[in-house]
Amino acid sequence: MSIAYNLKHIKTTIPSNVELVAVSKTKPNEAILEAYNAGQRVFGENKIQEMVEKYDQLPKDIEWHMIGHLQRNKVKYMAHFVHLIHGVDSFKTLKEINKQAKKHNRVINCLLQIKIAKEETKFGMDLDEVSSILNSEEFKNLENICIIGFMGMASFTNNNAIVREEFKTLKQHSTNLKINKFKNFQPTVLSMGMSGDYQIAIEEGSTMVRIGSSIFGERNYN
Ligand SMILES: *Cc1c(COP(=O)(O)O)cnc(C)c1O
Repeated sequence: MSIAYNLKHIKTTIPSNVELVAVSKTKPNEAILEAYNAGQRVFGENKIQEMVEKYDQLPKDIEWHMIGHLQRNKVKYMAHFVHLIHGVDSFKTLKEINKQAKKHNRVINCLLQIKIAKEETKFGMDLDEVSSILNSEEFKNLENICIIGFMGMASFTNNNAIVREEFKTLKQHSTNLKINKFKNFQPTVLSMGMSGDYQIAIEEGSTMVRIGSSIFGERNYN
């Protein structure tokens, strides 16, 4: 099946209020252009260097989302164009994003990554950590970032009950955290769901799904 076909099919399974991020990591420009020519404009990458190269080479109306774990020393390379950073998992990283965004006179939208999976390998903050960031004076002074929501990844398991429970937890956390809106904390986005679990995620309140292999085919590496 072609990329355009896959994309079209997936769109029929996603409600219009849920944004589709086409995860193009490891895939060549030709594959991205095929999706682009089928109308897709939002793409996700998990390595900053790779995303920068693709940004330089591809049409400028693409919205690039950084969905991977962030290396702080590389934030500067994407600060001039990144549209949304999903995986913010420390205050230090958030402050670095703010600093780099300021140099470009931008406000960079970010999601705080919350750890919902029981697996050790998954990144993300616990609820206490998130609350302490959002409630700090220092956070309120960050003028070049805006937290527009939360991101989470469910356990890698065939047990759908576990996956559903983890997404439910993330939705609950996001609802509870929304109480303290602030100038740079305007949460509306809940980024959860990948190829294998996005339907469950949508049922549990996702507003943004990150789908790679179901569009572009399997990857050989991550
Ligand atoms: C790779 C990746 C995805 C997409 O995974 P698929 O299973 O290929 O859909 C989504 N989110 C993150 C954070 C990823 O790294």
